[in-house]
Amino acid sequence: MNNSFEIGPIRPPSEAYSILLRITRNCPWNRCAFCSTYRDQKFSRRTVDEIKADIDGMHSIALRLSEASVRQGLDGRVSEEVLTEARADDPTPESYYRQVAFWMQYGMRTAFLQDANSLIMNTQDLVEILRHLKARFPFIERVTSYARAKTVSKKSPEELSELRAAGLTRLHIGMESGCDGVLELISKGVTAEEHILAGRKAMDAGFDLSEYYMPGLGGESFSRENALESARVLSAINPTFIRLRSTVPLPGTPLADIMAAGEWVPLSEDGKVREIRLFVENLGDITSTIKSDHMMNLLEDVEGSMPAGRGRILSVIDRYLGMSADDRESFIIGRRLGLYRLLSDFGRDGQVEAVKRELKSRFGSVDAAVMELLKNYI
Ligand code: SF4
Repeated sequence: MNNSFEIGPIRPPSEAYSILLRITRNCPWNRCAFCSTYRDQKFSRRTVDEIKADIDGMHSIALRLSEASVRQGLDGRVSEEVLTEARADDPTPESYYRQVAFWMQYGMRTAFLQDANSLIMNTQDLVEILRHLKARFPFIERVTSYARAKTVSKKSPEELSELRAAGLTRLHIGMESGCDGVLELISKGVTAEEHILAGRKAMDAGFDLSEYYMPGLGGESFSRENALESARVLSAINPTFIRLRSTVPLPGTPLADIMAAGEWVPLSEDGKVREIRLFVENLGDITSTIKSDHMMNLLEDVEGSMPAGRGRILSVIDRYLGMSADDRESFIIGRRLGLYRLLSDFGRDGQVEAVKRELKSRFGSVDAAVMELLKNYI
């Protein structure tokens, strides 16, 4: 019997140590102007039986690995020898064993449901899958999924509570912007009020909720509205996490097309930092934790729990904005080259200065160069 299971293309960075369980394929909306993840990929549903068979495959592999580990006196730990012994008479490709072994190494505590909107599945079917997952792996503590706000807003409070009780603990919702004009521009298919409704419903049902905000999504024209309206919507939701994802117009997306047509002007790196400052300043009396957990963000240390963290976040931003324009350019280049992670890492570096000179002469400005570099990050 083959124990392989299906895996989708992406997961949030915070799910790096989770086992990935594919509930649906691709995105049922697939129209957001900035998104290239599932472009040209057709959405499809998987059956409950297919998904349960995947869970059984993971379970079977985990069992084989633990038994081989015990036989080799390693008490559950997985070595190359354990891996070889465990899959000796199993035709399942090695990569699946490695996935499960990696998960075992990190304690098997978390699972992530793929792809873009697992909550589109019939609630009772999803409950059945969650119960099966819990039955096979009772020690799982956190099960997370992406969800569209529109879908969450249409679920009844009882349905959301049922999913929560069956073991789904965390939702990631791509709000992107709280500004209706920007949401329309990017074809998000959700209004600011629907974002608030969905977010509040998710919080009321007891989920850990991550809401994503994209600084720069309104371009130059709507930067101020993007900051203020996003702060208003997220203040009304008070999600567990607010995750920053700075906007990058990727080639082949409608956002890149409207940029090429001159209808959307990207914000500079400094412009995005100023927008984040305005956003943080205008967040209300909330208790969310702000995370900057993606390489697209310039300032990774813009993180902290509200309300106490607001002062620290603003001081990091002000420290950056208080640097000379030349130092800011050096930091931007060094950060994008991976030489600086935090603002406190900054110091003039000969290698950075040489690359900066070369990029400026090649692309005309640091911002134009960064736009090219960032396209390769995603
Ligand atoms: S809903 Fe998410 S995955 Fe789907 S197109 Fe929009 S951003 Fe991309």
